[in-house]
Amino acid sequence: MLYETLARTYEQIENESSSIEKTRLFAALLKETPSDLVGKVLALTMAKLYPDWKGQPEVGIAERMAIQIVATTASVPEEAVYDSIRKTGDLGLTGEEMLHGGGQSSLFPQDVTVEMVYDTLVKVSQTSGSGSNREKASLLVGLLNDAKPIEVRYILRTITRTMRLGLGYMGLMDALSIAYTGNKELRPKIEHAFNVCSDLLRVAEVLATEGPDGLQHIKVEVGVPIRMMAAKKLSNSNEILEKTGGKALVEYKYDGERVQVHRNGDEVILFSRRQEVITHQYPDVVEYVLQSVTPMTCVLEGECIAIDRDTGRTRPFQELMRRRRKTGIEEMREEVPVVIRFFDILYIDGTDVTSEPMLKRRELLSEAIQASEFVDMTVGSIVDRPEEIDRIFTEALDSGQEGIIAKAVHEKSTYQAGSRSWLWIKLKASYQEGRSGSVDLVVVGAMHGRGKRTGVYGTILASAYDPVNDAFPTVCKIGTGFTDEVLQQFKERLDELQIDSKDPRVQSDVQADVWFTPSLVIEVLGDEITVSPTHFAGRGQIEGGGLAIRFPRFTGRWRDDKGPSQATTVSELIDMFHSQKVRSK
Ligand code: ATP
Repeated sequence: MLYETLARTYEQIENESSSIEKTRLFAALLKETPSDLVGKVLALTMAKLYPDWKGQPEVGIAERMAIQIVATTASVPEEAVYDSIRKTGDLGLTGEEMLHGGGQSSLFPQDVTVEMVYDTLVKVSQTSGSGSNREKASLLVGLLNDAKPIEVRYILRTITRTMRLGLGYMGLMDALSIAYTGNKELRPKIEHAFNVCSDLLRVAEVLATEGPDGLQHIKVEVGVPIRMMAAKKLSNSNEILEKTGGKALVEYKYDGERVQVHRNGDEVILFSRRQEVITHQYPDVVEYVLQSVTPMTCVLEGECIAIDRDTGRTRPFQELMRRRRKTGIEEMREEVPVVIRFFDILYIDGTDVTSEPMLKRRELLSEAIQASEFVDMTVGSIVDRPEEIDRIFTEALDSGQEGIIAKAVHEKSTYQAGSRSWLWIKLKASYQEGRSGSVDLVVVGAMHGRGKRTGVYGTILASAYDPVNDAFPTVCKIGTGFTDEVLQQFKERLDELQIDSKDPRVQSDVQADVWFTPSLVIEVLGDEITVSPTHFAGRGQIEGGGLAIRFPRFTGRWRDDKGPSQATTVSELIDMFHSQKVRSK
């Protein structure tokens, strides 16, 4: 299959503003793609060769290196490439313009195929060690030499992971459904398969080669992370009981890191909330699992909590995050001891139990673990009166926890992988003080500090995530609540994410001094969500503008356990905005 076919479709998708049309265009491309290439086409479109949890190296060429590659291919000085980017605002367009002749220096340029692009990118990703940059550059120069101008544009965007198609996971799943059934009917099954295996490339390959029936073969497997179920927010115990059908299992909400524990005999793998392998961070938890979990193959979920060895009390999440390192973990194990509190079980000895109701799973969980000093279940009780929820909430706060999570216990209270539904509802102290509660936002830009803040950033520009359009619309500028130490930390963490111009997925009217690749997620507490002419989140869905967070401040909590696509979404903000209006009536 010619890569040009992909490039031409990308161009149409890029020029199309309607997300429905974008999806339709991509579905049409998938339909004409030979089945053995569907996975490769999807990988190139997502600019992602493997799911994160496989821990495989990705292409991810830094913009500076890509500029050198364009300069070499076009035989021009790097300065000329920088000058052009200042005009076009995009390396892809610059590359296309500079390499306009096609077949730059190849004596016998050949047609570029999807396989050639994919295979070259795989080779680039696997090149490591000394001299690897030169080798990577030479592979890519070779490819660009053969590419037509429009192909150059998209190859450059894929390798720098700046596709700007406006097609997120949601759109891609819709497109898969349309491509294989002609409509969106298959979408729930596709989503289910994706939630179970956390690998959209695999789902696409199965669909292409086995057809829709093949999806039923994608099952829970030990060693393959399941996308985690999440909780919605409410601030009132009456409403909580209404949503859960009058009865709920109310558990403490511990302030730690969520881990999905996969055990297969003597082997234990721990996955984070963003499906990264974090086994190396918690060698103690691996030992505890081997000692205290009875089934030989199982998947459990729990919260890893840092504790004070003397008092047994929970220590803040920030201290637990000191475990996020590659070296010195044995010292950290002493300095930041942890315990694990399990709250769910998804798989036991060959049986997927995610479709069992909550109380059945809790029973299975209690049979699967032998409580010890370091391992236990979450504290929880079944209640049917709001006063009881309030009592457990106060008790949880008194014992140093964040709040509570109320879980539905009716027949349909299954484990819903990858979804945030009313089956789990969280209540934290911060929701009850007339505030909007905390949100997790992505840092996309910053303004330079002045006066006392010279040399660091004075204001941070932050966005929510829009999974439909794969975009990061801004919601606030944060300028208060920073200590000098935190300002320094922002500088250090953001330096490596700095890019020359606004990331194409960032939607903003605000002119930042510096732009960043959307990656760093921080927790932000605001007073209220208001309609704003400046900010973008929810524009077109809310009357009068977009949504903004008023008086936002950084809570000090770096959400290193979350990736940018796990930040608070636009639809969650819209929900919060509406429920705030109801409360203030
Ligand atoms: P938050 O920012 O409020 O922690 P989140 O967006 O990280 O939320 P949610 O799924 O919305 O994730 O909230 C549930 C989180 O609370 C879980 O991911 C888990 O880490 C944590 N947690 C603590 N105690 C429990 C519990 N008893 N049951 C389920 N999750 C719990």
